[in-house]
Amino acid sequence: MIILDGKKASQGLVTDLKQKITQLKATGTLPTLAAILVGDDPASQIYLRSKKKRAAKLGVRLVTTKLPDATSTAELTTIIQKLNQDDHIHAIMLEMPLPAHINSQQAILAIDPRKDVDGVHPLNLGYLFSGHAHAIPNTPYGILKLLDHYHLSVKHQNVVVVGRSVVVGRPLAALLLNQDATVTIAHRFTTDLTKLTQQADILVTAVGQPNMISAEAIKPGAIVIDVGINRLANGKLAGDVDYASVARVARALTPVPGGVGPMTSLMLFYQTVQLARRQTNHG
Ligand code: NAD
Repeated sequence: MIILDGKKASQGLVTDLKQKITQLKATGTLPTLAAILVGDDPASQIYLRSKKKRAAKLGVRLVTTKLPDATSTAELTTIIQKLNQDDHIHAIMLEMPLPAHINSQQAILAIDPRKDVDGVHPLNLGYLFSGHAHAIPNTPYGILKLLDHYHLSVKHQNVVVVGRSVVVGRPLAALLLNQDATVTIAHRFTTDLTKLTQQADILVTAVGQPNMISAEAIKPGAIVIDVGINRLANGKLAGDVDYASVARVARALTPVPGGVGPMTSLMLFYQTVQLARRQTNHG
């Protein structure tokens, strides 16, 4: 069984990324990502801290805007518009989830699609679905790079994606279709999920339920990508897949942590640099 190691695969992309950053700096551009955090969601604060560390290591500038929980949608969109107009900012990331009173669709629409580093603006989702991707949600982009790293082609493959969120399941399905896979998206209202997953050459789970997928649900020899991140009662992290049993039947499997997560966090900077290159006519 191949362990699809996201730490190793992301390291493979770092060398190329650092080269591009050096080139940009030589032409006077410091690639800059603006992250906006509204409220005090503990997971978002942890993610932001790790982004800071990674940005520093890579030599990308990270500007963070922390706003109080009481921020209104109008105040947030005004701040986003200021970042849109700032030529020194190349990428904007709105940390999710936003507090419930904020109209998140309105906030996303305020991001300049050219700076939308997580590819969540409807224009970018439209480009992706029409086969002309500009900016892509980082997790599905990272999954494709991970498969690439291990020379696992999706062409002709029967792929089942469990989960239909706008940041994972839906854009992943579009990316896979663009690479000639046959894709089925399953979700909480899918009947007989196991029957579907048993037919998958490649199974991707992005649900958020620990151990919901066990060996019986897997076609022997399948490639299994576990996107789920679940905090267990003992404090440990687990995916959606029962790793020990699935590892006995799968051909390849991502661990949690250490699989999709490191790819997602690297793709954020990978795309920041891509956007900076385009905005300065180097890409
Ligand atoms: P979400 O809550 O927006 O979506 C969950 C999806 O699972 C929904 O589409 C829902 O229909 C489906 N679902 C729920 N119960 C189901 C069931 N019993 N059977 C089939 N489908 C079911 O979540 P999300 O933002 O897409 O994240 C999903 C998981 O992936 C979470 O655990 C999240 O923490 C994790 N995640 C990880 C990364 C990473 O980099 N590794 C990135 C994003 C999200």
